[in-house]
Amino acid sequence: MNYRDALQNPIFKIISQSAKEIEIESFVIGGFVRDFILKRGHAKDIDVVAIGDGIKLAKQVAKNLPNKPKVQVFKTYGTAMLKYNDIEIEFVGARKESYTEDSRNPAVENGSLEDDQNRRDFTINALALDLNEEKFGDLLDPFGGTKDLDNKTIQTPLDPDITFSDDPLRMLRAIRFATQLDFIIEDKSLQAITRNSNRIKIITNERIVTELNKILECKKPSIGFLLLEKTGLLKYILPEITALKGIDEVEGQRHKDNFYHTLEVVDNIAINTNNLWLRWAALLHDIGKAPTKRFSKKVGWTFHGHELEGSKMVFHLFKRLKMPLNDKMKFVQKMVFMSSRPIVLAQDIVTDSAVRRLVFDAGDYVEDLMTLCEADITTKNPKKFNKYHNNFKIVRDKIIEVEERDHVRNFQPPVSGEEIMKTFNIKPSREIGLIKEAIKEAILEGDIPNEYQAAYQLMIERGKKLGLKVSTQND
Ligand code: ATP
Repeated sequence: MNYRDALQNPIFKIISQSAKEIEIESFVIGGFVRDFILKRGHAKDIDVVAIGDGIKLAKQVAKNLPNKPKVQVFKTYGTAMLKYNDIEIEFVGARKESYTEDSRNPAVENGSLEDDQNRRDFTINALALDLNEEKFGDLLDPFGGTKDLDNKTIQTPLDPDITFSDDPLRMLRAIRFATQLDFIIEDKSLQAITRNSNRIKIITNERIVTELNKILECKKPSIGFLLLEKTGLLKYILPEITALKGIDEVEGQRHKDNFYHTLEVVDNIAINTNNLWLRWAALLHDIGKAPTKRFSKKVGWTFHGHELEGSKMVFHLFKRLKMPLNDKMKFVQKMVFMSSRPIVLAQDIVTDSAVRRLVFDAGDYVEDLMTLCEADITTKNPKKFNKYHNNFKIVRDKIIEVEERDHVRNFQPPVSGEEIMKTFNIKPSREIGLIKEAIKEAILEGDIPNEYQAAYQLMIERGKKLGLKVSTQND
């Protein structure tokens, strides 16, 4: 492989020249080099290491660029960043790090390139390309990172126990890279993650969620969640998910393992949507099953009310992990709460009124709900599998049909409360709610169309039944 090809962007010559002007050495390092070798497409980030003052190098580069971009300096970290076209270039001085027990923020001193490569998390992330004029494009691979790329292996450059204990975030990064790249974590590193899993407690929730999101955004998120479970990390991060693990058997009756089922659902949904929050909904859709699990001789295993319980748990989980408690969370809650509705529908004959109710309750989320429920079909019985999928097709067709005809999505009552008051000349009262409810029910049941005339007629009938008189007042 010709590594010079990685450096075709003119920015690299400019960095090289700028470093020469201030008499320091520079290298491009980390993800950019890794992704070039893996042919992962165009990088949006470039990390540059200077043997010396990284901030000074950034300023020199900016000076040499025609548009003189602004240099953002992060003093605490000793780094600087500038934007070149749509690429973010980060500059840092080579450094040596030493850690203490209770923090992932190391004491830092200036170091050599080798020191800087030593502090990198994985061999595949420690690769560097020389930007110095006479060695431009030479690869520096002290830990066999290219071999690990070939073998699809993730391992730490130094003793994994030290690497992971120093900065426990690396354990999540290892699992995230394994999922993103479909790599194997080398055995010693994997064992070290297992040994150090409780160290994850010193990592902030924000960082944990960033990695979880990246795992969920992968093509096959189950790779990551299986590793999280296997290494013991998952119980610290998402105990609600580990609680789903296991099969109980009473009197010969077993229920399915809801942990593995959940992972199947997440992988299924990843084929059909890139919506991160819908993927979260898939991950959490059964969390209410652990606390609601019961066994009775009559009906066997049940999980009554798990959807409501699960949607409440979503709130606590989001709060604990400092995730947004906004409309995204409400969306996930709604998906979890409604997650069984279409399934029940698809097991039976699909009626118009059941579909109308589904559209009414799910509103704009009805398509997402269908996507979730289709992903939820993990039965290994091909007959049932086909039946459910066929029924879901019918449901989807009916949704369109019912939508066109009845417009019950984001339902607005065709007769307003005000009109009811005026018609019967009454003040705000219980009767108005009753009439409105009767109209809504009649529309959802299909007894009347979702139209003004029919609704008006029903209002008159209902009002009379309630003992109300149509007002003769004309205004
Ligand atoms: P991606 O952009 O896909 O997340 P990346 O490797 O560029 O991949 P960054 O988080 O941008 O990831 O990190 C850039 C580089 O910094 C890494 O390649 C690695 O060399 C180093 N690095 C990042 N985080 C750590 C860490 N926690 N410990 C050690 N090295 C790290």
